[in-house]
Amino acid sequence: MEKQLRKAVLDVPDFPKKGIIFKDLTPVFKDKKVFKKLIDFLAKRYKGKGITTVVSVEARGFLLGAPLAYKLGASLVPVRKPGKLPRQVYKQEYALEYGTDTLEIHTDAIAKGEKVLIIDDVLATGGTVGAVTKLVEKCGGRIVELAFMIELDFLKGREKLKPYKVYSILHY
Ligand code: AMP
Repeated sequence: MEKQLRKAVLDVPDFPKKGIIFKDLTPVFKDKKVFKKLIDFLAKRYKGKGITTVVSVEARGFLLGAPLAYKLGASLVPVRKPGKLPRQVYKQEYALEYGTDTLEIHTDAIAKGEKVLIIDDVLATGGTVGAVTKLVEKCGGRIVELAFMIELDFLKGREKLKPYKVYSILHY
């Protein structure tokens, strides 16, 4: 599974800007066998762990979060960029390389004590998912683990996410 997945991930140099090697995951979703194996693999890891809610981040996180939540029989909660969610939201600002960005969650998206799995495609510096953990905590959710398809080890995002448990299928 790992080997097949690694083969499907494409490195795109200098996208979206010079010096970044972008991990293009579109071939993973395009290959129906790899896509199925990936979701089945994640579902196997989290089945029986009492996960009630899968939280995922716009936009590529949704591609993993939705099928995984379905497979686990769990709820799916989207975290979105500002101005997309139509009702009352909690907001969390986080640092980018230059400036800041904000993520939002509906205030009633998670009931107190729900067991939450957070999933995103790539763990880079950890800023994005760090903001998601704060939003989930504001709602009263209990975070079981943070899961990623890919972790860029050299950016040390994992250290920023302490004390949460972090799991990534592929490391670069
Ligand atoms: P970060 O907040 O630095 O952990 O960045 C995480 C977000 O940026 C993830 O949701 C990824 O989708 C995206 N991202 C960051 N670096 C890369 C990369 N090298 N290739 C693909 N996506 C990336």
